[in-house]
Order: sequence, then structure tokens, then C-alpha cells
Amino acid sequence: MARRKAAPLIQEFPLIRQLQRRHERRSPLIRKGIGDDAAVVSIPAGAWTVLTTDLLTEGIHFDLRTASPASVGYRAAMANLSDVAAMGATPRFLLVSIAIPPALRTADIHALYRGLMSVCDRYDVRLIGGDTSASRQGLFISITLLGTTTRGHALFRNGAHAGDGIYVTGTLGDSLAGLQLLTSRRDSRQGTRLAAADRHFLTDRHRHPTARVREGLWLNRGKLATAAIDVSDGLSGDLRHVCEESRVGAELDLDRLPISPACCAYARTRGIDPATLALAGGEDYELLFTVAARDEPKLDRQARAKRFQITKIGTIRPRRFGLQSRASDGTRVPVPMTSYRHFD
Ligand code: ADP
Ligand code: MG
Repeated sequence: MARRKAAPLIQEFPLIRQLQRRHERRSPLIRKGIGDDAAVVSIPAGAWTVLTTDLLTEGIHFDLRTASPASVGYRAAMANLSDVAAMGATPRFLLVSIAIPPALRTADIHALYRGLMSVCDRYDVRLIGGDTSASRQGLFISITLLGTTTRGHALFRNGAHAGDGIYVTGTLGDSLAGLQLLTSRRDSRQGTRLAAADRHFLTDRHRHPTARVREGLWLNRGKLATAAIDVSDGLSGDLRHVCEESRVGAELDLDRLPISPACCAYARTRGIDPATLALAGGEDYELLFTVAARDEPKLDRQARAKRFQITKIGTIRPRRFGLQSRASDGTRVPVPMTSYRHFD
């Protein structure tokens, strides 16, 4: 496409060549990677292709005053991987487009790609291309991820039925707690009352979340989950998506929400209920999924054998039930509408 040249400080073509030299990896599935008009890949016969894309805008989704370019790259890649994980697919190929503002240096772009590629290498995802432009104001990053899954096997949001168990992987609320710690003043009392190890755990969960790719594949291949979504907006918001798509209601057991010891300790220093963090906190990138009652014993057995941490947090109800949560004293309240959208 004909367009204006990249920002004067950054030479577009040398940059692309450097990115290619540093980050291109071989794969028998790649017929042509970076360097031609388009990439060409071969997809295994009988597979379904899963595609997702994300556009991240400086000042909206991330803030380069509080996040390093490397962590922006890391989290951008992980958010896309998490979407493919929530479909139960294998992530394979990545395209990255960037629009670079004048203030950014080449070193920042390389740091961003280092963060991004550390995720790709860990999950065996290959960078096969992208596009580069100048931006008058602010950094833009668009990531497109291609995954594959066996034909007929994909986890959708719309398969939950009344009576299914509601489950979640890992722990909830850590990322929000970590973000609050990162953005609160260093000398504030809550920070000093929290043990250094807990603070480190929470901020690391925010900066370096983990997409549950292996868990998604397991749930999909064994046809264990009836519906799945990744927790990117917060449990209450994402459960709402599943319920709306599946036309069902849900009952959440607040006592059963999996909350890490560090998150509990943080909630105590703030004098808040940790369940609030778990319900509202986005960007944990855990999987929220539903399982038919008859498959729950098998799910438990296999999760234990594979050492996957999963927790049952409620039950799908008929639509008229709405979304309710039950506290330890048995009282039921509507699940709050809180939903969290923030990149940094
Ligand atoms: P075109 O003008 O056809 O878009 P480009 O010069 O933009 O070609 O791109 C040349 C090659 O470099 C293509 O393979 C493209 O996918 C790749 N590429 C361009 N920008 C990036 C980027 N930011 N990250 C990774 N690959 C890129
Ligand atoms: Mg181009």
C-alpha cells in the first residue's frame, strides 16, 4: 500500500529487516514468512482455522508512562493467545502491525517485540508478518493471531445449559490487585503493609499473565466444556457474556471463588472484600467454562491427573433466574454489573 514514510527517526525498512533477523523462526508449516507481499502457511487437512485480532491504542489500552514497551508487547501477545485458548485452539501464526509516534525510539520498538516474542517462543507461535507506519500521535499495535483446531472441535460461549457446573482456572483478582499496587503511590500505607513477596506476586500476575492454552485444548479435545470464555473483562462481565449467548442464568458461590493468598492479604490491607476484586478484576486471562453435570467427575479426575488448577464456582440456572451470587450466610444478591476494561 502506498503511504507516507515512517517517522524520520525510525527507518522503516531497516527496522523490518532487523525484526525479521531477530524474530523469524523456521517452521515446516510456513511456506513464506516475512519479506514477501503476503505470508503463506499450510494448515493441516481437516482443521478449522481460528482467527482473532486486537487493536491496542496508547492512552486507551496501555500507558507508556507506567508500563515498559516490553510489558506492553508481552501483554498484547498474551491477550490474543488467551482468546485462542478460550476457543480451545492451538495458536500458530502471528501478524503484528504498528504505527510509531515520533517520540518512540527504535530501541523501544525492539523492546516491545522482545516482550511479544518471549510469549510467542514459549507457546511455539511464529511471527509471519505485519505492517509498519508512522503515527502523528500515540503508539498503535494491532495483533492478528491464527490458530487451528480439529474440525468440529471449538469452545463457544453459547453452549451452557441449566444444571452445568461453572468453573474457572487459576485464581481471580490478582491482576487488578497488581495494577492497583503499581499505580498507587509507593509510599502509601497499603503498599508498606503488604509483604514484599505478595506485592511481587501480584504485580507479576499483572505484568506477566499466562494464557491457559493447555487447559483450553484439554477442555476442547475431550469435549468436556459446554461453553468457555477467557476472563479479560472481569468474572461478572464475562459470565454475563456466556449467560447472554447461551440464554441461561447463573448462580455464583462467592465463598468458592479461587483467590490467591497474596490477593487476600492485599484485600485485608485495603479493608475490602477479596470477592469484589475477583468479580471486577479483568485481565486475569483465566478460563471460565461450564461442564455438564454428568461430566464433572471425569473433569475432576483428569484435572487432578494433569495438575490443572480448576475450581467450581457455581451452577448454570434457567434464564429467568438471572445472575445471582450466594454469600456464606445463604443470602442471594444479583451479580454486580462491574466490569473492568483497562490495559495498564
Ligand atoms: P507491503 O508494502 O507489501 O505492505 P512491507 O514493506 O510493509 O510490504 O512489508 C514487507 C514484509 O515485512 C512483509 O512480509 C510484512 O508482512 C513484513 N512486515 C512489515 N512490517 C512488519 C512488522 N511491524 N512486524 C513484522 N513484520 C512486518
Ligand atoms: Mg506494509
